[in-house]
Amino acid sequence: MRNNHIAGEWLSASNAVANVNPSDTRDIIGEYAQASVAQTKRAIDAAYDAFPAWSRSTIQARHDILKSVGDEVLARKDELGRLLSREEGKILAEGVGEVTRAGQIFHYFAGECLRLSGDKLGSVRAGVDVEITREPVGVVGLITPWNFPIAIPAWKIAPAIAYGNTVVFKPAELVSASAHALCDIIVRAGLPPGVFNLVMGSGGVVGEAMLSSAKLAAISFTGSVPTGRRVAEACISADPMKRMQLEMGGKNPMVVLDDADLTLAVECAVNSSFFSTGQRCTASSRLIVTGGIHDAFLAAMTERMNALVVDDACKDGTHIGPVVDQRQLEQDLSYIRLGQDEGAKLVAGGELLKRDTPGFYLSPALFSEVDNRMRVAREEIFGPVATVIRARNYDEALEIANDTPFGLSSGICTTSLKYASHFKRNAEAGMVIVNLPTAGVDYHVPFGGRKGSSYGPREQGRYAAEFYTTVKTAYTFGGYAP
Ligand code: NAD
Repeated sequence: MRNNHIAGEWLSASNAVANVNPSDTRDIIGEYAQASVAQTKRAIDAAYDAFPAWSRSTIQARHDILKSVGDEVLARKDELGRLLSREEGKILAEGVGEVTRAGQIFHYFAGECLRLSGDKLGSVRAGVDVEITREPVGVVGLITPWNFPIAIPAWKIAPAIAYGNTVVFKPAELVSASAHALCDIIVRAGLPPGVFNLVMGSGGVVGEAMLSSAKLAAISFTGSVPTGRRVAEACISADPMKRMQLEMGGKNPMVVLDDADLTLAVECAVNSSFFSTGQRCTASSRLIVTGGIHDAFLAAMTERMNALVVDDACKDGTHIGPVVDQRQLEQDLSYIRLGQDEGAKLVAGGELLKRDTPGFYLSPALFSEVDNRMRVAREEIFGPVATVIRARNYDEALEIANDTPFGLSSGICTTSLKYASHFKRNAEAGMVIVNLPTAGVDYHVPFGGRKGSSYGPREQGRYAAEFYTTVKTAYTFGGYAP
């Protein structure tokens, strides 16, 4: 059994869950201890007790620890990438790419330790000095989803530690292996006991125990909208209320205009909609295509899709791995049936596939003749399922793009500077992307959305300080002669 890390120790549990490879369900990656409510409380207590000293640790100490975590993650990117692909099902290149990104994030925040700054302003009152500084928030609870098993934990853990907070980290049940491997690297990097704690387990047990603890000052959550809403309710009704940051679902549009480079547009769409098995919050699932290019785009898309290899994530030559588990596969299939019932036309894919190994293989599905009011165009499916929606012109395409409860990323393929500039200004999303896939973003700039996709301050880049620090304004009188 692989254990939880609580108060500086690896602790076993009475319960363990098997981590299953979705490319080959006979392959059990390991048994992972499920923390109890009592163990979760112990982890929170340890983080609470460790906070005063850690919050006053030197920025050099924090820098050195994060730098060494980043060094080890990068040095082991191939091994950790393979583990990630084995447990989550994204292909090896994507698994290794994600691990690389995690290592880069630790390095970035190692640097941020040294760059955190405040402000010093004049006062409106004579003889008074005003200083604005940032301080750590306290114990931070981090709750993460399964689709980025190492990058999302990294982009929460690294800033939390960099800015002097202590951490209780709960990964998603399906991806304990990457979380456990990352935790092992972090705790060996020299953090004092209690600063970082790993509590694997279900949302109902471990997650709820975190939400109900008065000792947790803040929760950073990434996951689905319904769970995000539950986290928000708990944070608001807590006494004292908790600071929260929620990153949730998406139904991201990608507009393709008549003047687009067709080959580029198809590559952007195939990548955004189907790579990582469509299991990315930034995936584009609504391809909004204007009349003049619509038919050519559809033909080129189906041709390109026919050449995609769906197979074992760790096998050479695979473009798309399996769906993460049976439950997600059933959700994808039920939306494929729903799309047909709603009157959309399934022009490619959507079939269960048999491969050499037993796994959750689904060919990427493309619907045409989709109306933006259909449920397949409004609800997040979170699988390799995309819809093509026809628009008369740019104005209508923009209107359809913005007509969604979500607002994470929004893309356009065009060779027109006029439309690209107008779209960047008017797309209702946290991230706007021109002539690139809607999924796939840099690690040093803010990440997050609007409307139903996000709540609270942005993650990543220097904007991460907005969540992981609290601002103090200090007034001094008599410090110097005016
Ligand atoms: P999920 O909401 O089912 O679970 C997310 C996390 O919340 C898991 O760790 C889970 O155990 C935990 N959880 C569940 N119930 C809980 C409770 N009552 N209290 C506390 N914690 C609880 O989401 P998922 O299926 O793991 O991930 C897929 C979702 O994540 C999709 O909607 C996707 O769009 C979203 N996502 C968003 C982003 C983003 O940055 N916007 C990034 C990746 C994934």
